[in-house]
Amino acid sequence: MCYAIPGKVVSVDGDTATLEYFGERKKASVIRNGGITPAAGGYAFAQGGIVVDVITESEAVPMLEAWKERFFELKRIDDGIANAKAEGKNDNGIFFKKIESGMLATRSDMEKVLAAGGADGGDAGALESLFSFANHVRAKALGNSCCVHGIIEFSSHCRNACAYCGLNKNNEKIKRYRMGPGEIVETAVHAARSLGFRALVLQSGEDAYYTDEMLAEIVRRIRERCGVLIFMSIGERPFESYKKLYGAGAYGVLLRFETSNPKLYAVMRPGKRLDGRLALIRRLITAKFVVATGFIVGLPGSTNQDLINDILLTKSLRPGMYSFGPLIPHPETALASAPRVPLSQALKAIAVARIADPDSKILATTALETLDRDGRRKGLLAGANSLMINLTPEAYRRDYEIYPGKAGNSGKTQDTIRDTLQLLHSLGRAPTDLER
Ligand code: SAH
Repeated sequence: MCYAIPGKVVSVDGDTATLEYFGERKKASVIRNGGITPAAGGYAFAQGGIVVDVITESEAVPMLEAWKERFFELKRIDDGIANAKAEGKNDNGIFFKKIESGMLATRSDMEKVLAAGGADGGDAGALESLFSFANHVRAKALGNSCCVHGIIEFSSHCRNACAYCGLNKNNEKIKRYRMGPGEIVETAVHAARSLGFRALVLQSGEDAYYTDEMLAEIVRRIRERCGVLIFMSIGERPFESYKKLYGAGAYGVLLRFETSNPKLYAVMRPGKRLDGRLALIRRLITAKFVVATGFIVGLPGSTNQDLINDILLTKSLRPGMYSFGPLIPHPETALASAPRVPLSQALKAIAVARIADPDSKILATTALETLDRDGRRKGLLAGANSLMINLTPEAYRRDYEIYPGKAGNSGKTQDTIRDTLQLLHSLGRAPTDLER
């Protein structure tokens, strides 16, 4: 099983390594205090633009042999799909031509595109052409690269009262759990060593039970035993806490700003302010963390203007990855009776984000899959190029209920991995690292 292809190290220049994947060259940074030192002529794994592991020639060669044929076959499949893009009609047609000529999408272009086709049941032809155009833009900018991250949800305790989230502290109906440090480490090491993951997200509610020191120790113990990119998704902590985690080897953070509308933010996250969260996200990006960020699509009270602002704000942050997905109302939250977000709206958000920021990484999220069983595939065909697989131990998985009916809740991890690989194969996507 393999979620990343090793690259041959062509050169190391200061803190930048150049890796080659079957003739394609990509750059990745070397974090000196990470203890991973690639050397020209050797082999390395990169994730999110960072070298996370080095391996020997005798380990790398059989992996590359196994990937070689498939690598070119996948490219052919993706090219076949992405080149068969539909010609847009009317406004879509004018818009696509403009983008193809190298111009940027304006706010008014985005407005028109989001309005095209309306909600579900609208003009299907217009939507299909939009999605296939976005897919074409993705392929042109980044080829068939696709990131696959594993996520471990280690605690469902939370001190916040977010209006959208089932883990909010006022929900007395869900079972709360915490994984012990040893259990988290073992789950992560198993994911990396036995399942082949090279990027892992450690996620929880905002749970002060885990001190910075405890989390740093968990990260250190994982990094001692495996070369993976670790993302912390633990909500707001002081920047200094995140620095400690970086020092321990967690170079990634997944922290969404949730909505770019400050008024809506204050309603959705009682007692919290958008500028506080954004300041943290900005500081993390400046400090060279790989930051995945984004928003929730379809919060009640949000408009297409808000969605455009959400996309443009994400773009302006230049994050390592876009992470956004549709609201799935949870019955034990203030948004219990919020209208269901049409799948088309969630897909349009992906397509518009892709067209607005062609060389970005965009996740097809679990929420999208929860909305529609085929959501990941549809998302990947509307401009997305990253996926997450839930690796939370099966005993806890159902209790991490940020929203109900979460895709991947039932079923075995092994089956999910197999299905995901089949999906990627059928779409011609290869797990090479991406960088802008
Ligand atoms: N406590 C962490 C992790 C939160 S869970 C933090 O605050 O960052 C990860 C994401 O799930 C949240 O950032 C939010 O965008 C999303 N989420 C929560 N409830 C949701 C719901 N009902 N529907 C869709 N997405 C939701």
